[in-house]
Amino acid sequence: MITIKNESEFRKMAVAGACVAAVHEAVVEAAQVGVTLRRLDEVAASVIRSRGCKPSFLGYQGFPAHICASPNEVVVHGIPGKYRLRSGDILSIDAGAIYEGYHGDAALTFGIGDIDEDAARLLDVTRRALWAGIDQVRVGNRVGDLGHAVEQAAAPHGYGVVRDYVGHGIGRAMHEPPQIPNYGVPGRGLRLRRGMAVCIEPMFNLGTEETRTMEDGWTVVTADGMRSAHFEHTVALTADGPTVTTVSDLLTARPVG
Ligand code: MG
Repeated sequence: MITIKNESEFRKMAVAGACVAAVHEAVVEAAQVGVTLRRLDEVAASVIRSRGCKPSFLGYQGFPAHICASPNEVVVHGIPGKYRLRSGDILSIDAGAIYEGYHGDAALTFGIGDIDEDAARLLDVTRRALWAGIDQVRVGNRVGDLGHAVEQAAAPHGYGVVRDYVGHGIGRAMHEPPQIPNYGVPGRGLRLRRGMAVCIEPMFNLGTEETRTMEDGWTVVTADGMRSAHFEHTVALTADGPTVTTVSDLLTARPVG
């Protein structure tokens, strides 16, 4: 796992992170009823290019697109293809960008047109779980503290907390040790130190936590076909505590060190 040693390294992660945030903004705006997921991939590609970054996902273990686009029962790793968005869909977009060798990685889930109450609550709770995890990114805390905070956010709602896929360290590669599960025992696991960067990414399902992978080898769906939400940010542990790099205004944000 990377340990960010100086302002220059942090700045590169911030540029990559801001690019990911810009991808999300553009894709959310473009994601209207009737639009194909493939079109959203084109939007993402052009944002990444215009910011002088490279896509993290395209070609990663053979992945064929710039973003993962995962509607409804798709948990993660959906390939943006010919599916046309419908009112009432929920859609997860996961995006990654590289700037001068440093990565940013983030995901969000949002509604298309009018979504039902169950979906709205799932999105709200999963987003809150992400931030509960981010709040645990403190010097001396452990990986189990993060996972526990995320898991606790799901508990009152009876959501399935996906265990098959986990968060991760990030830096010069998109996926670095350690794994950051969305469950854990407080006080257990690797101790967090200043300069670490991690991706926290709760995946909550309306039904079972079980998943299966489709025949394309990528698309991960819930085993029961019920809907799923996914939120993720890249978080650097700076002198000021958790600093999210994958938000749009970070280039004017706090220094590291
Ligand atoms: Mg990730």
